[in-house]
Amino acid sequence: MTLPAAGPGIPLDLGYWSVMSENPSPPPPGQLTFAAPRRAKPPRHLADLSTAERREVVAGLGEKPFRADQLSRHYFARLTDDPADMTDLPAPLRDKLVDELLPTLLTPINEQTADRGMTRKTLWKAFDGVLFESVLMRYPDRTTMCVSSQAGCGMNCPFCATGQAGLTRNLSTAEIVEQVAAGARSMARGQVPGGPGRVSNIVFMGMGEPLANRANVLRALHRITDPSPGGLGISQRSVTVSTVGLVPAIEKLGEEGLSVRLAVSLHAPDDELRDTLVPINNRWKVKEVLDAAWAYSKKTGRRVSIEYAMIKDINDQAWRADMLGKLLKGHLVHVNLIPLNPTPGSKWTASRPEDERAFVRGLEAHGVAVTVRDTRGREIDGACGQLAAASKD
Ligand code: SF4
Repeated sequence: MTLPAAGPGIPLDLGYWSVMSENPSPPPPGQLTFAAPRRAKPPRHLADLSTAERREVVAGLGEKPFRADQLSRHYFARLTDDPADMTDLPAPLRDKLVDELLPTLLTPINEQTADRGMTRKTLWKAFDGVLFESVLMRYPDRTTMCVSSQAGCGMNCPFCATGQAGLTRNLSTAEIVEQVAAGARSMARGQVPGGPGRVSNIVFMGMGEPLANRANVLRALHRITDPSPGGLGISQRSVTVSTVGLVPAIEKLGEEGLSVRLAVSLHAPDDELRDTLVPINNRWKVKEVLDAAWAYSKKTGRRVSIEYAMIKDINDQAWRADMLGKLLKGHLVHVNLIPLNPTPGSKWTASRPEDERAFVRGLEAHGVAVTVRDTRGREIDGACGQLAAASKD
């Protein structure tokens, strides 16, 4: 779920229309695509598998199952990607296991930086040439990775660069996890200014609607949060899954027993406008989406984030702030207002500062917590709603 945000005078990336040659032509307005096109699957990787499944694979190779845990610790805990460093595995066995369980899944083909190197957007190429992006953002107190769950997106939100390019395919579990692992390796090796560190937070707000690729995203959540050797051991409470509002999938996520945060990209409090801004609203209306979010919050005890792109003269009127405040008041909720990011060809721009301030006041009048989000990465098109896998090389 890519989120939008924008500002005047920011260079637009005009390249993305031509580089997503793998993608179908842009979908007609309002058309939703749920089923990802069938394509060849990426090679199997240990991050696709649970700990038990990895042991089974290793046993099937005629090796002791504990070797799977050794390999997993290298990948998840030591953040090793060079087989030569796996010295506790005998060399012939190491090569065999690496061939079977650690294929190279992603190749970085471009990296752009901003904020003195603290924001880094990576353009990845998968085994089949598909392109997608992740963004690492280092702050004084945390480092957040924004990851993609699909190449492209089928939800077709008209303000979003990703949505306009259509859906190419779902990412595999390991393709999602590898974005995080790559960021974790960069941090551990001190490749991001500020010295060695760790990735502490994950947001599924890159390309794609995570709940439209639910099975792989669920497995990825386990790999990201399970302790070693199962996974990277990042706290579930530091992971946010964003959605435009696939109600049955929100309900199923609530049954998983996870404590990840849910973020709902609402963008309008009324069905009339949301039907246009977020086409999935024609399937599940504002009330249904919010009811599912409140049920999720009740089950998990987690506060729901409401993401709201501030679009000049479209959804930023004081009466809509009042309407939104009435819908949200009394719930465990926080609103993130996001100044609309520029995307190529878009007719929409960010709200005027005075309208933004009035909107904040309108929500606060109902006792609703609200923050205007910092638009990190805007100049490298790494901000929400700008990820479109544009090749710059
Ligand atoms: S089209 Fe909509 S759901 Fe898909 S990435 Fe863009 S904003 Fe998110």
